[in-house]
Amino acid sequence: MSVLVLGGTGEARALASLLVADGVSVVSSLAGRVQNPRLPDGEVRIGGFGGVEGMVAWLRENQPRVVVDATHPFAQQISHNAVAACAEVAVPLVRLVRPPWEAHPGDRWTVVEDIGEAARVVGSRFDQRQEPTDQPQPRVLLTTGRQDVGAFAGIENAFFLIRVVDPPTGALPPNHRVLRSRGPYGLDDERELMISEQIDLLVTKNSGGELTRAKLIVARELGIPVVMVARPIEPCENVVTSVGEAANFGRK
Ligand code: NAP
Repeated sequence: MSVLVLGGTGEARALASLLVADGVSVVSSLAGRVQNPRLPDGEVRIGGFGGVEGMVAWLRENQPRVVVDATHPFAQQISHNAVAACAEVAVPLVRLVRPPWEAHPGDRWTVVEDIGEAARVVGSRFDQRQEPTDQPQPRVLLTTGRQDVGAFAGIENAFFLIRVVDPPTGALPPNHRVLRSRGPYGLDDERELMISEQIDLLVTKNSGGELTRAKLIVARELGIPVVMVARPIEPCENVVTSVGEAANFGRK
């Protein structure tokens, strides 16, 4: 095996396709969180390695020439594990991560450090509303992914439209509806959703990329405020932002 791609993203699939087309042997690794994952070209392994120790053992057994960490920008644990395991086994590691979204004129973003702060901002924002009780509850479109929904479970004074690929399994806010769907999302779809659902606030992580950017453009158009969770600190020093750069690294 030549390249281990830590995956779970569109970029990881694109990278595997490029390398396989070039005759490079690739194993893509998926966490196994999603019920019906889109599978990349080439060989695929599914499931955790068993922490740093497990990844070290796997690297020793399979001896990839290089590792590309192409996991989601918010998948922090696996990226930290990859840095530690690759250092221990002395295998080169490159981090492929898409650039974050940036605010444009007209955007009404509140940038927060993490999901806990996002929940505090949302809760306090609606606590401060002095409205007659017969007014409808403010409506939040929550697109932070099912693992982060629990942070909002204690917020009673808003309705949450929770958009997820697979249903959340943890605690949920009392007033909610789960909307199961998988991107990409176009401008027309997002406009229709935010208008028909009368969305007052969008909560999202700064995942970056084109596939889910439309919601931010529509929020700007409609003047909807956004609570934007900033990227975590990147543990790998060797970072590239395009699939092409990562493929060059994989071909070496
Ligand atoms: P995480 O918190 O960084 O990782 C938790 C554990 O899951 C890791 O310690 C590892 O288990 C296992 N794991 C994660 N990614 C793996 C991979 N590619 N291959 C094998 N094991 C993996 O990860 P997460 O945030 O739960 O994300 C899980 C997967 O979903 C990632 O592959 C990521 O690319 C994808 N994803 C995440 C998000 C997000 O917002 N976090 C969004 C879209 C897609 P062991 O310690 O046992 O090795």
